[in-house]
Amino acid sequence: METKRFQIDPKHMDMEQIRQAAQILREGGLVAFPTETVYGLGGDAEDPDASRAIYAAKGRPSDNPLIVHICDYHQLEEIASELPETAKKLSDAFWPGPMTLIVKKNQRIPLETTGGLETVAVRFPSHPVATALIRESGCMIAAPSANTSGRPSPTNADHVWTDLNGKIQGLIDGGEVEIGLESTIVDLTEEVPMILRPGYINKEMLEKVVGEVRVDPAVLGTENVHIKPKAPGMRYKHYAPKGNLKIVTGQEETVVKEIEKMATEDEAAGKKVGIIATAETEDRYSHGTVLCIGDRRNEDEIAHNLFAVLREMDELGMENIYSEDFSTPRIGQAIMNRLLKAAAHQVIEV
Ligand code: AMP
Ligand code: MG
Repeated sequence: METKRFQIDPKHMDMEQIRQAAQILREGGLVAFPTETVYGLGGDAEDPDASRAIYAAKGRPSDNPLIVHICDYHQLEEIASELPETAKKLSDAFWPGPMTLIVKKNQRIPLETTGGLETVAVRFPSHPVATALIRESGCMIAAPSANTSGRPSPTNADHVWTDLNGKIQGLIDGGEVEIGLESTIVDLTEEVPMILRPGYINKEMLEKVVGEVRVDPAVLGTENVHIKPKAPGMRYKHYAPKGNLKIVTGQEETVVKEIEKMATEDEAAGKKVGIIATAETEDRYSHGTVLCIGDRRNEDEIAHNLFAVLREMDELGMENIYSEDFSTPRIGQAIMNRLLKAAAHQVIEV
């Protein structure tokens, strides 16, 4: 199949191109598009065949539900069987934006879209191309991240092209995304809202709006790998580069020394070694191929670059990859959640 590539500047949108892409969705086809978090792979959320096609294009297990993208709060009311008060409060505070709400579903969204669950994940994105596409298509758009299952999520159109060219009908290139991490997922189906996947909207921000918020224990990290996460997608090995990625944590000085030592040994053994470093440390490594993820004082920059750096390690053919730890104050939990999964929880404490 030929993948039609649309070029759309989010600041000066060419509505004719949006209409063409919307037409593909209405006819049951798939279109990848930019959102403020990562690129999504969209299909009509009410069409079971479109959802099946999304799973097939991504190679995604069909029990891993899709997020339904809307462009109006009332669409949430149309597809939920009941809505707690917290849904209104959170959507007033954070929609349009990088937060997904899990609510109980009615008949409107088919089980194919929700991976067989009686709940549905819903998000109102803020990216102008995403909202224009939803509006013009007249569909609610089911869209997981537009990557091959297991690979790092795409933060620009070339990432999507690498994974899905020839497997989908359309791709809208709207440039680099802004945030670079997937949405915060908040489950509202139980008494206390629970974060199933951390993101740019963190626990403190949610708590200011609705009071107590819990975090799914499976999100938190290394010692919890045996706990079953409530978001099916968080079960799978994910975001992973092809090389063997390990995270090194501890005092900056000691971390740099340890990575340098392992890189030296690995190179002596003939391995291609990649190092994920920061602006503060990149010049201190004399072995391996060093990629800078950003300035430690700028967590947004680190989040923005994470998936692109993991993909670049693949392009460079790195076999062993060492990363510093990025437990930054505000969105460090979201960043480390992705990095830990990408590393299959291989952490070296020094
Ligand atoms: P992606 O769009 O690729 O980030 O994947 C969507 C994420 O949302 C996956 O981790 C899913 O498991 C999660 N998700 C979607 N629907 C539900 C649901 N009804 N309950 C729990 N998690 C969900
Ligand atoms: Mg994904």
